[in-house]
Amino acid sequence: MPQNGLDPIARNAPTPATAPEQVADGIWRIALPLPFPPRAVNVYLLAGPDGWTLIDCGSGLPDAMAALHTGLAALGLGLSNITNLVLTHGHPDHVAAAKDLAQAMGDTGHIWHYGPGIDALFDRWSVRNPEDFRSWAELQSLAGVGESEIAAGVTSLLRMTQMVRLPPRALVAPLFDGQSITLSGRDWEVLWTPGHASDHICLVAGDILLAGDHLLPDISPNVSLYPEQRANPMGDYLASLDRITALNLADPLVLPGHGAPYHALADRIDALRTGVLRRADRILETVASTPEPATALAVMEQVFGGRFLSPDNRRLALGETLAHLERLHFVGTIDREVVDGIARYRLPGAE
Ligand SMILES: [Zn+2]
Repeated sequence: MPQNGLDPIARNAPTPATAPEQVADGIWRIALPLPFPPRAVNVYLLAGPDGWTLIDCGSGLPDAMAALHTGLAALGLGLSNITNLVLTHGHPDHVAAAKDLAQAMGDTGHIWHYGPGIDALFDRWSVRNPEDFRSWAELQSLAGVGESEIAAGVTSLLRMTQMVRLPPRALVAPLFDGQSITLSGRDWEVLWTPGHASDHICLVAGDILLAGDHLLPDISPNVSLYPEQRANPMGDYLASLDRITALNLADPLVLPGHGAPYHALADRIDALRTGVLRRADRILETVASTPEPATALAVMEQVFGGRFLSPDNRRLALGETLAHLERLHFVGTIDREVVDGIARYRLPGAE
């Protein structure tokens, strides 16, 4: 899923290089191109005595597959040298080529995904008809979005869905929170970190943190409410930041899903948390200053300048606005009422 496409850094991201960059002992990063901001997604290769592990696999589009093959070839490898594929979360920029990997790995390969999220992964990416987006359309309608914009959104989401090629479900093995898994000779602990996606995991081994999209260096991950998400994704995201803080890792190397590897994790977590809470304040101010109870769409238009955004960015901005509004509703800071099929938010006690 595209990150917060509103960020100028994301729009100006350079075209990714396909040469693998060694980022740690036995670990390489390959940046693969994306057709949407932030324009590149990282996959990581872990070398090991019993085969290579790939963390995420890119969009599966022709340019991304070419970049993956080129990067592997630079290390003297092909897809068939990979014995494990780990998916950090089920968004298309991270999973869409999983079927290609499964075919190349054959019987000896394993594909790993957060266990409780496997059914939802297959449900989400097996849809092929506009009617399959009914729950998404209902959520948009509840937020105040008009019919024509919803219909255009369905068309766009269907196009995204067709990008994703998943392997047979039986080939995907579950990972669970707290589990230890040996990948390419190194023991990793699995940490469930919902927020950006309900099925998001990070992996930690010693002073290395495979962070997926939970902790990005230059942009804040988009945290949106959509039907497959848990009920309070923004609350989840903040709790998942706290969870990483509580690990008390001593200056780990963070390997993110987008952007360059980095240190100073504590500072980055502080910045991400501050960014979320500032935006929450802005959304609360907007609700408080609106004379009538406000729809999520109206709040989004004010906070994000929604009239000037592309359709894709409007959807991301609305999803994030909904995630904030629902968190504020969840903790009792604002009230929500549904009248004639549209949800409106206001301060408690406001007329
Ligand atoms: Zn991503």
